[in-house]
Amino acid sequence: MKIGEQIITSLVDHSPDPVILLRDGVILYHNQQAAQLFGIPEKNSLVANNIFMSVAPGSLSSFQQMLMNLKQDSILDFQEFMFYRHEGICFEAEVKGIPVIFQSEKAVYLLIRDTKERKKTEEFLLHSEKLMAAGQLAAGIAHEIRNPLTAIKGFLQLTEDQHEDTKPYFEIIHAEIDRIELILSELLTLAKPKDMEFKVINNVQDLLHDVTTLIETQAILNNIEIVTNIKLCTPSIQCDENQLKQVFINFLKNSIEAMPDGGQITIDLDVLHDSVQISFRDNGPGIPEHLLNRVEEPFFTTKEKGTGLGLMISKQIIENHNGRFHLFSNAQGTSIIVNLPFTYPSSEAVNI
Ligand code: ADP
Ligand code: MG
Repeated sequence: MKIGEQIITSLVDHSPDPVILLRDGVILYHNQQAAQLFGIPEKNSLVANNIFMSVAPGSLSSFQQMLMNLKQDSILDFQEFMFYRHEGICFEAEVKGIPVIFQSEKAVYLLIRDTKERKKTEEFLLHSEKLMAAGQLAAGIAHEIRNPLTAIKGFLQLTEDQHEDTKPYFEIIHAEIDRIELILSELLTLAKPKDMEFKVINNVQDLLHDVTTLIETQAILNNIEIVTNIKLCTPSIQCDENQLKQVFINFLKNSIEAMPDGGQITIDLDVLHDSVQISFRDNGPGIPEHLLNRVEEPFFTTKEKGTGLGLMISKQIIENHNGRFHLFSNAQGTSIIVNLPFTYPSSEAVNI
């Protein structure tokens, strides 16, 4: 093998992206990534195959045009085409072509990238930016509405005592104001990290116990059993206790609300190598697959009296704790797994 040729094959072999060397549509050489992209079983090769066999009919003419342009020795930027994988599945990829000399003759170096991952990341970024903007806006508005609302409530109480005959109306107004306040307080929890009070705690089990005690009455009323499997000796974590409690209450309330005819909620507390893992599992009806990626959006709710903010705020609080949050759901139920990194207890915490 000549030196120039060796350099090219080495470049192809070590490219993190799929690369194919082509002459007149026939594949001369490729790396493992290219074989994987086209779904070729391991140890099999694409060499001697005609690339046009893998180009989808709709992309044939533009692909042909690209190869023609490359023959004129111009380097072409990424262009998108549709291809077929070995098993017949169609996929979209972007291709950059570079004319090279291989085995003493003109050839084409094709860098092929599956666009699925890139598009998914772009979508995700756009989505999280939108969410952040919505969150900031919501928290700002909530703050502004709170003050006039307090004044309205005060004056309402004053006038209420003077109008015995219209008492039922006042009750409705109060109930509606309570609901506005509930939504506002949820929105205001979209607090910035600077508003959080971080403390080292070495009793996550106590925190969970407080939460289950709080929610127990509601659970019993709904015929729901809460089972806790707590691994003793959990390491310390650094957290804002109240915010974490709010997160856990949100999850438990969602589970209770999902099981109006009763059921079971299991809470597991485990210690992994770098984090404390707390999981909440219910045996309710689950979240339909087509709604799964919407439940964390602000104001997305399937409940008549829901705010659609619980999951979004919970996720945000967990992320502010450098933790991770995963939601799984199917017809057998819904699980939420929270991982919080542990810290070493401060001397203050140890002394307690
Ligand atoms: P809300 O409870 O106010 O509706 P959330 O953000 O807490 O808002 O939840 C959003 C939606 O996610 C709920 O309306 C419900 O459809 C779905 N959901 C959340 N948790 C569960 C669960 N454990 N089981 C079934 N559906 C759930
Ligand atoms: Mg909720």
